[in-house]
Amino acid sequence: MSVREQIADLQKELPEGVNLVAVSKMHPASDIEEAYAAGQRVFGESRPQELCAKYEALPKDIEWHMIGHLQTNKVRSIVPFVSMIQSVDSAHLLAYIDKEAARIDRVVDVLLEIFVAQEETKHGWEEEELLTYLREGSWRSFEHVRFRGVMGIASLTENQMQIRSEFVRLRSLFDRLRGEFFGVDFDTVSMGMTSDWKLAVECGSNMVRIGSLIFGARNYGASSLPDMK
Ligand SMILES: *Cc1c(COP(=O)(O)O)cnc(C)c1O
Repeated sequence: MSVREQIADLQKELPEGVNLVAVSKMHPASDIEEAYAAGQRVFGESRPQELCAKYEALPKDIEWHMIGHLQTNKVRSIVPFVSMIQSVDSAHLLAYIDKEAARIDRVVDVLLEIFVAQEETKHGWEEEELLTYLREGSWRSFEHVRFRGVMGIASLTENQMQIRSEFVRLRSLFDRLRGEFFGVDFDTVSMGMTSDWKLAVECGSNMVRIGSLIFGARNYGASSLPDMK
């Protein structure tokens, strides 16, 4: 199926109120243009350099979401244009984003990335660590980040029960954080990818991040910078 057909199918299948982030990392700008022509406006990337190059090359009404691990020394390059940073996994990074956004007088939407999987390789806050940080309260002085919700990646496993329990845990943490700390602006639960998005939606996701289903398998060897297409 073409990129256009996949987008159309997904848009039909997704319940109302569930937003689609098309994850275009490692895919050429021409693929993004095809999705754009099909009406898709929200794209997710995981490497700052690739994100910046694609931003430069592509239509300016695209909403770019940073979804990969972000180092503080790369924050400045994406803060001017990024519409959401989904991968905020530490207090240090949060403070840095606030500082860089303040410097250019922007407010950047962020999601708190929560570690819910079994694998040690994944990033994100541990629940207790996050709750301790939020109770301590220094984040309340940040005027240039807007806390919009949580993001998480489930374990890479065939075990649907395991995945379901991780999604349920993430959704209930979201409800708790919304009630205890953030309120109604905190409205986004980003969970679900190609292999598990239906399960994620059943468990209360309202933002799915889908790559391979739309664009095909990623080729980790090739460059996907726009001028290489
Ligand atoms: C790559 C990636 C995705 C998309 O994965 P697919 O399995 O290709 O849909 C979603 N979220 C994050 C954080 C990713 O890094």
